[in-house]
Amino acid sequence: MAKASTTESRVQVAVRARPLNQREIDLKSPIIVSIHNSQILLNKPNDRHNTPKTFSYDFCFDSMYANSSNYASQEHIFQTLGEEIIQNAFEGYNACVFAYGQTGSGKSFTMMGTHNDRGLIPRLCQTMFDRISKEEISTDFNDDTKQSIDDSDDSSAAFSMKFSSSYRVEVSYFEIYNEKVRDLLNPNNNHQALKVRENKILGPYVDGLSQSAVISYSEIETLLIEGNNYRTVASTNMNNESSRSHAVFTLKYTQTLISDSTKGVKVSKVSLVDLAGSERASKSGAQAEYIRFREGCNINKSLSTLGLVISTLAQQQTTTDKSKKPFVPYRDSVLTWLLKDSLGGNSRTIMIATISSANDNYEETLSTLRYAEQAKKIVNHASINEDEPGSIIRELRNEIDKLRKELADAKETKKSSEKLNAEINENEKLMRTITKDWYERVAETEKISKERHEILEKAGISVCSSGIGLEKDKLYLVNLNPDPSFNELLVYYLKTRTSVGRPDATVKQDIELIGVGISPEHCVFEIRNQNQVYLTSINKSKTYVNGQLIDNERHLHHGDRILCGCSHFFRLNLPSERTLLNNSATPAMNTIDGSYYSFVDAQQEVLLNQLAADPLTKELRSFLKESDIEQDKSRILSKKTSDVYEREIEYLKQQLMRSISTNLPDRKLSHKNRAMEESFSKWRYSNILVNDSEESRAFFAKLKQELIRVNALVSEANTISSEMQRQTIFAVMLQIPVSYLKPNERVDYQI
Ligand code: ADP
Ligand code: MG
Repeated sequence: MAKASTTESRVQVAVRARPLNQREIDLKSPIIVSIHNSQILLNKPNDRHNTPKTFSYDFCFDSMYANSSNYASQEHIFQTLGEEIIQNAFEGYNACVFAYGQTGSGKSFTMMGTHNDRGLIPRLCQTMFDRISKEEISTDFNDDTKQSIDDSDDSSAAFSMKFSSSYRVEVSYFEIYNEKVRDLLNPNNNHQALKVRENKILGPYVDGLSQSAVISYSEIETLLIEGNNYRTVASTNMNNESSRSHAVFTLKYTQTLISDSTKGVKVSKVSLVDLAGSERASKSGAQAEYIRFREGCNINKSLSTLGLVISTLAQQQTTTDKSKKPFVPYRDSVLTWLLKDSLGGNSRTIMIATISSANDNYEETLSTLRYAEQAKKIVNHASINEDEPGSIIRELRNEIDKLRKELADAKETKKSSEKLNAEINENEKLMRTITKDWYERVAETEKISKERHEILEKAGISVCSSGIGLEKDKLYLVNLNPDPSFNELLVYYLKTRTSVGRPDATVKQDIELIGVGISPEHCVFEIRNQNQVYLTSINKSKTYVNGQLIDNERHLHHGDRILCGCSHFFRLNLPSERTLLNNSATPAMNTIDGSYYSFVDAQQEVLLNQLAADPLTKELRSFLKESDIEQDKSRILSKKTSDVYEREIEYLKQQLMRSISTNLPDRKLSHKNRAMEESFSKWRYSNILVNDSEESRAFFAKLKQELIRVNALVSEANTISSEMQRQTIFAVMLQIPVSYLKPNERVDYQI
């Protein structure tokens, strides 16, 4: 593509600190971040040297105190960063924003936001269309009228007004999970993972990714909602953790400018990326090995390569000798390959690093701030992508001709002619896509959107109400998900009889679920007497209500948690009871953030009920039940003494001597449970007695979360094992290093 002169621009780096979340408030975790204009101070309490670490960035957004007048709102962030991106796009520059930070630090909130508090992506899209329609109207008027409409606009907009112009917006939305690309707008594309290829003229691209032609903001809004819904469904069905995937939303904006004598096309690509949780990149040593093992080698690849690309690009800036410039490994991961232009290439790029302000996350915050420091050093070479119309097509055609000639001249091996043929096919395929008429594209987009609707509706999700204008007086289920941005995103309205089961069931199910532990015909919801809901499990399927496995019919109430299989959690909304509960003076249920039970609470409930069946896990149960750590600690400290601790060690020794060897699975399990309980209780008391600190509180809270999570995995593994009719039984074991049992020594734990 013919390029205008390039301008050098540094990657701009913004940091946003979010408010404390409920867990951090419960832990009484101090705030360790303070922001002064473009400087951030990180102050670790109890630090021996106690010198705050200072960092400075292009922008620092203080969103730590929601009620403060300084609170950096979504609107403020859009005004500061988004307006410029739109301006760049209209001028014909590529742009990219990527959000980096640990899970839970506010990446999705900043990029996508919530329905009531929209983030950067929806605001950008809305403003872009507002501006397009403004300019389109203005081009229809005569010059005088134009001036009055657009008085406030800047010079470049005024410049473009002199032309008769037309605007096209195409969007794509995909996620990268475990180095595989999943199209979020066209589920039919995902029967096989999409491949990333690189074309000489067009650069890297995802082969076969859908490009939706959109003509209004409301169309984009629907795409975003449905894309996110599909992402939620896919991640629950495959049991993928969303924190491990990267979501990439791309806007391609094409302007055709026609003046009296010339015609030109400006194309700008805006990539908006919500990265996987950075904690995955910063793990080192044994933990990294363990994660690699568990996640099938690839899961971190994109994130770790991004780190490598950023540090290499930063290094490049300090190397003056051109021949010694380090090699940038863009092609080592799908993400960096696709974002090649955005990093060190033709793009104006912004990184938003999101951090928690709590002491509890000190290490991750420090690592994010250091990462952001590196990104500041990257210099991009952005240029306006302006061409004569059809020049790309001409270039592609020339390339095809050249390849054909090479093929004809080729006297070489079969292998090289195969390669040439593949290249020709690839270029022809791209040609066909590019030369498609706009109306053809709009029609294709409509077709894909219909198919997407059907797929979502077939799964039982109420598409028309997805998030907007939820009919609150109806009976429905919402999904519970560990990722707040996926939580309660899916709405399933209940009919008089709603069946739940797998898509491959002989009878079509109203709500289709895929995943471990889901039976073809799993369970049935029935509405009786207008507003009474009954749930029946079919053939002893794994159906839980409020953590209890049900084996027959169960009358459900508003707010009840339902688990189908191992990972599909729902909450029931029963409007008639909700009103009653709201009116009653007593707090009826555990309310978190104004709603009943979070995903973790629901998961914990299931675990507690499972443990209730095993008398040996009493200790673990009481630990998991703790709601107030302070209160519990005093209880335990008064009850337990180091005598008990020693007695327990003695007991463990006896157990070791006895050397139990049995192949009976149930005994194996209970033995493990016992060992778990013993190790756990010893370690715990030693820790509490010795280390009654902030650090230990945070540690316990984390351990509790990990235990709940790991137990869910174990339960799933056992379900898979029984589905495969294997004898293997898995159980959780807490390994506590011997050194940990000595007072005053604090070592990391492993699960
Ligand atoms: P991530 O995508 O980084 O894992 P999320 O964006 O899902 O994190 O944020 C975690 C939680 O914190 C969400 O419930 C979100 O609404 C909340 N949150 C994040 N940033 C802010 C903020 N600036 N103001 C208010 N709430 C926030
Ligand atoms: Mg997120």
